Amino acid sequence: MPTLFTPVENLNLYCRFCKKITAMQLDRSIAEAGKTVDKKSTFEFCCSKCLKTVCFNGNDLMAVDDIPEDTREYSPKEHFFLGEEIFHKKFKEKGVVVGNESGNSNRILVQFEKAGVVKLIQDL
Ligand SMILES: [Zn+2]
Repeated sequence: MPTLFTPVENLNLYCRFCKKITAMQLDRSIAEAGKTVDKKSTFEFCCSKCLKTVCFNGNDLMAVDDIPEDTREYSPKEHFFLGEEIFHKKFKEKGVVVGNESGNSNRILVQFEKAGVVKLIQDL
């Protein structure tokens, strides 16, 4: 039986329509339609600026009851979640995962304060 999965509902994510980071909210209609949602499900987030829908895979989302306590150090071998705060040794600063490249889940977009939005490899 698939494990039920409830992702974090409100995230600041990169909107490919607005081409910037915006507040996004999970569209709950999938779960409310009585469907079983698990890590393999596709979740739709609505951009608060352009109101367009951006899809994300459950594998890339944090569960509400599974938010990491510590900031993980970036390593291309690890898998990171949208909204997760990570530390990058080279940039010597913390950043937040704000998106992934469409069609290529091995690339994540991370927003750093000084370095800006940087594309990084994951799941190597
Ligand atoms: Zn947008």
